[in-house]
Amino acid sequence: MYPTINMHIAGAAISAADRASEPVIDPATEEVLGHVPHATIDDLDRALASVDRGFGGWSAAAPLVRAQILRRAGDVLRARADDYAAVLTAEQGKPLAEAKGEVLTCADVLDWYAEEGRRVYGRTVPGRNPAVRHIVVREPVGPALGLTPWNFPMFMAAHKVGGALAAGCSLILKPSEETPASAMLLVEALYEAGLPADALALVFGVPAQVSSHLIASDVIRKISFTGSVAVGRHLMTLSAEGLKRTTMELGGHAPVIVCDDVDVAAIARQASAAKFRNAGQVCVSPTRFFVHHAVHDQFLEEFSKAASAIRVGPGSDPQSQMGPLANPRRVQAMERLVADARQRGAQVATGGERIGNQGFFFAPTILHDIGEDAQIMQEEPFGPIATVSPFADLSEAIERANETPYGLAGYAFAQSSAALAELGNRVRVGMLGLNTFSISTVETPFGGIKYSGHGREGGNEGLDGYLDTRLLTQA
Ligand code: NAD
Repeated sequence: MYPTINMHIAGAAISAADRASEPVIDPATEEVLGHVPHATIDDLDRALASVDRGFGGWSAAAPLVRAQILRRAGDVLRARADDYAAVLTAEQGKPLAEAKGEVLTCADVLDWYAEEGRRVYGRTVPGRNPAVRHIVVREPVGPALGLTPWNFPMFMAAHKVGGALAAGCSLILKPSEETPASAMLLVEALYEAGLPADALALVFGVPAQVSSHLIASDVIRKISFTGSVAVGRHLMTLSAEGLKRTTMELGGHAPVIVCDDVDVAAIARQASAAKFRNAGQVCVSPTRFFVHHAVHDQFLEEFSKAASAIRVGPGSDPQSQMGPLANPRRVQAMERLVADARQRGAQVATGGERIGNQGFFFAPTILHDIGEDAQIMQEEPFGPIATVSPFADLSEAIERANETPYGLAGYAFAQSSAALAELGNRVRVGMLGLNTFSISTVETPFGGIKYSGHGREGGNEGLDGYLDTRLLTQA
């Protein structure tokens, strides 16, 4: 069922049979699912030549034609959602229902960009001299490079591919080598829908080698990356050399402020569902809970009850509500963060440990009585750990919420309109959920401030990063 992993360069499929490779591991069983090929320098140069050639034709294609191809690819994903979800679960670990949701959302993402790509208009500005007209045109920036991670392996790829192709850019996509099939199936759906082979290339390899070679090339005019702050900073440094445009979707460490005038039990249940989705490996995952001291104990109890009731197991088992972590690095990080917090006096309300010794399972974990000096109060866990701390007044809660260098997502729950207004004004994040954990859809801009990055994906902003603005003045 798990497909052979191929790179796609200029219409040729290249498998691990012909290249150096690495195994793809099922995180629930630790079994080898397949092998992912590594691009040689020659492969990367052919990919560059391909998207350079492809840019000419694709950027000149009518937006309607580009839209039709994106929509057809979305239809392919919908028709095969069950099969593709099984592949996504096998390599990434999330429960099948979440995986199917991801595949279907990718179809929505492609539909959205298909529509928005038809609405990339310029404008005419009247001149100061009536005989002069200024014409503002928006044009694709050139061949782009998309680098995507393993937590939402198809969704992240859909945003980069959808945004670039809808704007008229060609693209080289380099997904995570740990979850290669999900992105490959998306790319193959686009070819099946009629995308010219030179408009999109798919490569894998040693990430640092691939990114440094491709970013150094004059062909690439735009880099879009989703991943960690450290890697984002490194890629921006490489991009600066050629003054290249970047979009950076980096980590987050989302605060949640719970005031004392809300339905505490209902929010605790919603918090559990939001926190442990995708085993917490979500950049907008709610992690640092600051709860008014009057309702702190009740919230902690209800949140812990809901978390400890989550059925953890292989994503392929329909009974499982949370799967394994995607790789052993995350299990080690969870163990390190819990040990450090314990050493500094934190209590474990539920979880705190790895489950079993086969597969990368870790229990949904809630820490409390936690010192502000614990590593987890500054370091994004990117896994199934939340912290709960009491606060006395709203201003203090907001200050603590803003205390990390991150600024991706945040959440706050209150009834008082004065409190909601203050929260909206003062919590420094790119996306704030007020009385909800569901913050974004394909129609809305997704992205962060501060160390969480810059640029937006989704919304009508999603195309901006792939477009240049030019001015023609006609006398
Ligand atoms: P990592 O920093 O090693 O890698 C993150 C991603 O960047 C991976 O997909 C990896 O293949 C890629 N990468 C690494 N070095 C690269 C390079 N030189 N050039 C191009 N790509 C490169 O971390 P990890 O262990 O894979 O993930 C853990 C951390 O990454 C988490 O703590 C989290 O902060 C972050 N992360 C964030 C997101 C997100 O959605 N923003 C997704 C995945 C990981």
